Amino acid sequence: MLYNFAVLFGTLLAMEGVGTLAHKYVMHGWGWWLHRSHHAPQLGVLELNDVYLLALALIATALVALGKAGHAPLQWVGAGVAGYGVLYVLLHDGLFHRHWPRAPRPVNRYLKRLQRAHRLHHAVKGRSGSVSFGFFYAPPLAVLKRQLRARRQR
Ligand SMILES: [Zn+2]
Ligand SMILES: [Zn+2]
Repeated sequence: MLYNFAVLFGTLLAMEGVGTLAHKYVMHGWGWWLHRSHHAPQLGVLELNDVYLLALALIATALVALGKAGHAPLQWVGAGVAGYGVLYVLLHDGLFHRHWPRAPRPVNRYLKRLQRAHRLHHAVKGRSGSVSFGFFYAPPLAVLKRQLRARRQR
């Protein structure tokens, strides 16, 4: 049991790395056509960018199915991927962008820093030159602001 939780928790941690890299090199790279909707003013409840969440859900489901079919502990890796997706929706859609009818507010310094860092991510309009690609870790705001300033001067 403890081993399974370690796998789950390790997957959650690893997913932040995977998520950051995917956001930087895929979503702001060849996958920009899907992610662009997220950097434009929002029109409805859903955006094309949600396809990435759907892909995440499919990967998690496949991993859980494989785990159940005898390839343990893949079901716990799948649970970690799914957990990351749920936390992402709560934090990113709920707290950062307030896509919900009732807007929660960040209650501590960590969440406030994440929210401000994500606002800086959206400060750059287009595909390139953005900062802060992570969702659960953000570099210090001073560093991000310096990066943004340096990029504008280029
Ligand atoms: Zn982005
Ligand atoms: Zn966002």
